Amino acid sequence: MVLGTGGTIAGRSALRGDNIHYTAAQLGIDVLAAEIPGLSEHLQGHTLELAQLAQVDSKDMDSAVWVRLARRTAQALAQPDVRGVVITHGTDTIEETAFFLQSVLPADKPVVLTCAMRPATALSPDGPQNLLDALTLVMTPQARGVMVVCAGVVHAPTHVQKIHPYRLDAFSSGEAGPLAWVEAAQVRWAGADLPAAKPLWDVNALPDPGAWPPVEIVLNHAGATGAVVNALVQSGVRGIVAAGTGNGTLSQSLEAALRQAMASGVQVLRTSRCMLGQVIAPPVADIPVAKGLSPVKARVALQLSLMGLPPAP
Ligand code: ASP
Repeated sequence: MVLGTGGTIAGRSALRGDNIHYTAAQLGIDVLAAEIPGLSEHLQGHTLELAQLAQVDSKDMDSAVWVRLARRTAQALAQPDVRGVVITHGTDTIEETAFFLQSVLPADKPVVLTCAMRPATALSPDGPQNLLDALTLVMTPQARGVMVVCAGVVHAPTHVQKIHPYRLDAFSSGEAGPLAWVEAAQVRWAGADLPAAKPLWDVNALPDPGAWPPVEIVLNHAGATGAVVNALVQSGVRGIVAAGTGNGTLSQSLEAALRQAMASGVQVLRTSRCMLGQVIAPPVADIPVAKGLSPVKARVALQLSLMGLPPAP
């Protein structure tokens, strides 16, 4: 099952070969699949079922698409004849969608997100190969859980981060390293544990998008004040992720504003804006730490925890 959601992989530019001035999310998943040379041989007798779930530039990814995607993917995974699910997605927020899906999907089958850094109209587009690699991964016997594949590298949702605005290999799993590589239609596993097949939360209990609790991210930086936090509290925010400097440190005024927000019932999670490593919480519990999660993933985790969902069965 291949679900299309848009992104640069479905992008088109007016001038063939223009990899910068293009519009993402233009071509349907049926067109993308039809343009892959040798697709049917690659499928080794498997059948592709295609569905267009959304058509968005993933900078605009939102809870409405996420709810639809989670429900549709869960439904597909429950079908005995479905081997796995491939999701085409923009690169900008693929790491957040992957982390969200891992948190709610019972995935003892593979769910592979893939993308492209160049539009489909590029002289040498990367989307077709990435899509083939995603299909290779889905057809590989050991594969299970949610994964991201780009430029032949397979990443786990918890670790993957987009680290470059243009490079074809735009993703890194940081210190954890990749899960695997796809090379000449073969998967070479790196030896790391595969992502958990059992999610934290019950996908069937996900509320409709309008009922998702608002959670925002606030960054610590030189000269950071509490102004943004105060404005957020006034707007009715339910949770704030504080992307601290270094070991999750916060300026005095930002920290004071966050403590005040906590006192008024807002849930706060402390993370680090550093690319690598993770925050080591101080011995005295104060602002809780989202261990090992980047600010954007901590935001997803906090939002899901604020929904009061039952744990996955
Ligand atoms: N803005 C695009 C998107 O995330 C970038 C991409 O897909 O590479 O949809």
